[in-house]
Amino acid sequence: MPTNIDSPDSGKPDTVDLDTIDAEIDEHRGNDATAPALRLLSLGAGVQSTTLLLLSCHGDIPRFDYALFADTGWEPTVVYRHLARLSAYAALHGIPVHRVTAGNIRADALNPDRRFASMPLHVRNPDGSKGLGRRQCTGQYKISPLKAAARRLLGYPHPTRVPDGVYAQQAIGISLDEIHRAKDADVRYLRHVFPLLDMRWRREDCRAYLTEHGFGDTPRSACVGCPFHSQAEWRHLRDTDPQGWADAVDFDAAIRHGHPSANRRGQPLRGSYYLHSSCRPLSEANLELRRAARDGAESEGGGCSPWGCPSGATAEAVDNPEEAA
Ligand code: SF4
Repeated sequence: MPTNIDSPDSGKPDTVDLDTIDAEIDEHRGNDATAPALRLLSLGAGVQSTTLLLLSCHGDIPRFDYALFADTGWEPTVVYRHLARLSAYAALHGIPVHRVTAGNIRADALNPDRRFASMPLHVRNPDGSKGLGRRQCTGQYKISPLKAAARRLLGYPHPTRVPDGVYAQQAIGISLDEIHRAKDADVRYLRHVFPLLDMRWRREDCRAYLTEHGFGDTPRSACVGCPFHSQAEWRHLRDTDPQGWADAVDFDAAIRHGHPSANRRGQPLRGSYYLHSSCRPLSEANLELRRAARDGAESEGGGCSPWGCPSGATAEAVDNPEEAA
């Protein structure tokens, strides 16, 4: 299965080899000989996972016992507003939405006293070359709290061992146009399913369904200052969310020399760090859309998914004993 996709900044739409779709869907369907103890939804609150929640509310796919939202504490206001409305809607249909969190990613990143899981910051190295920092944030702020919540809901919180054969089925919102983001769970007590792949739905099918059911304004979800933002996403933030933009600009300046906790631990400075891929201060970065984007081809962006980042970058596992079986 291909693991790399075009960068959101590449201006190229994701491509799918239609001849391999059926084989890939079968591969991800898994082998669930025993019934799941729970059906969970990993709710990122973006287009695809919101669609899954509505489908479940309406009885079009099996009912979720819980929808879990991993909150980094630094989502745009519009995402929190959407989440509140969606939670109320799901509650009316008997599906609780639980928020799980490992802290506030923005505050933690700037706290010199807190050991921080690094964000994928863009780096200008001393020799002038560019690089990208490690992406540990998704593991720490999304994957770990989601796994811990699954264990608790199954009735086997850490350090209790989850018995063999006991698992939660976890639905992931990945549509056909991003099938290459689908990944199986890496622990025995979770098994991933991808209902949108089974339904052969693409992102535009989700958009149409959301519009039909009054959720046409579903936003993308990702941290306000995610270094993986595309040009279009940075522009959107600047043009529609002055407070969020100011927060991101301030944060960008504050991490110019890396995460303060790393500096405090004496790790040598190896360059300058930026939120924007041009390695320029965000306030000065050129946010003009590239030619392909002007022609309408720039990806809308898929937000940050715990198990399938649209950047194609792999989330590093964090050393967390609570995740073990
Ligand atoms: S949105 Fe970006 S910064 Fe936030 S957890 Fe995901 S990759 Fe990290």
